Amino acid sequence: MRDQFGRSIEYLRISVTDRCNFRCVYCMPESGMAWLPKLQILSYEEITEVVRQLAPLGLRRLRITGGEPTVRPDLPTLIRALRAVPGIEDIALSTNGVKLPQMAHALRDAGLDRVNMSSDSLRPERIAEIARRTLAFDPIAAATAATEAGLDPVKINVVVIRGANDDEVEDFAALTVNRPWHVRFIELMPVGDLASTEFARVVPSDEVLARVAARHGALEPADGPSRGNGPARYLRIPGAKGTIGVITPLSHTYCDTCNRVRLTADGRLRTCLYGDHEVNLRDPLRAGAPLAPLFEKALAEKPREHELLKLRVGGLKALSEVGG
Ligand code: SAM
Ligand code: SF4
Repeated sequence: MRDQFGRSIEYLRISVTDRCNFRCVYCMPESGMAWLPKLQILSYEEITEVVRQLAPLGLRRLRITGGEPTVRPDLPTLIRALRAVPGIEDIALSTNGVKLPQMAHALRDAGLDRVNMSSDSLRPERIAEIARRTLAFDPIAAATAATEAGLDPVKINVVVIRGANDDEVEDFAALTVNRPWHVRFIELMPVGDLASTEFARVVPSDEVLARVAARHGALEPADGPSRGNGPARYLRIPGAKGTIGVITPLSHTYCDTCNRVRLTADGRLRTCLYGDHEVNLRDPLRAGAPLAPLFEKALAEKPREHELLKLRVGGLKALSEVGG
């Protein structure tokens, strides 16, 4: 399964809900989100059927995301069904971690391989400020629960925001010394409603790495986790068990190796996070039409590179709509 530029497409990110128990400042408006009606959202059976039809085309890896996927009831049931689809080799979850302490074991038992947890601060009052919700949440306990359940690798994604949490990058990096965690610093993407105000708050990854090196000493290049490396570049504090990664959507593009497409909660296939290229799979699926020809047509139209730098964000209001 290759697109028009020869990129092999084997990775599908599946958003299972547009809802969330947080309202992160860079992701969702504090109020006024119009949630999708339940009938418009793909059922777990429908999501599994999409994957079943695409797997023979070469789909191998899945990521379950949202909104916050763990707020949709009974997520392990979906994981178990996806695990049973022939050809699927790897299932990952993106979560804000709030429910990991209670759910990590059930998710692992259902067949989840690994987890990316978002965490923008280690300080409770700041977590509440950035997430605009006060939920009892300890990111270190959540990541520990994931590791103890056998999810591997555990990656911790930190969106760095100038003036909000950029003074914590050294503390996040310190978590990798004695734990097998992969902390990844992500450049803030000024999308949707935030586009005009947030450029000044982007902290370039080179600045983040310089801060970490000033505290922890020169970093050495590292291979990163064995699975699902995606668009990050990895380094290591000498002797550390885990790694430090940077994801730089703004200062570098990695579109030429992009191997992913996205499925929104209401069944739209998006071939580029930032473009407005999308195909409705839900209605044909509900009408009993085969999806493979639609998928092949969508891939033929996958753009060469994203349009974020031109600030043409395809009408996206928030990254939560397409799962980040
Ligand atoms: N709720 C889950 C979570 O927070 O991990 C999954 C969905 S969330 C939309 C996926 C990722 O997108 C998170 O790591 C989040 O930090 C990131 N994200 C959302 N808005 C962003 C922005 N404006 N800039 C950079 N990353 C963003
Ligand atoms: Fe929710 Fe994740 Fe968006 Fe935060 S980044 S509001 S946790 S979907």
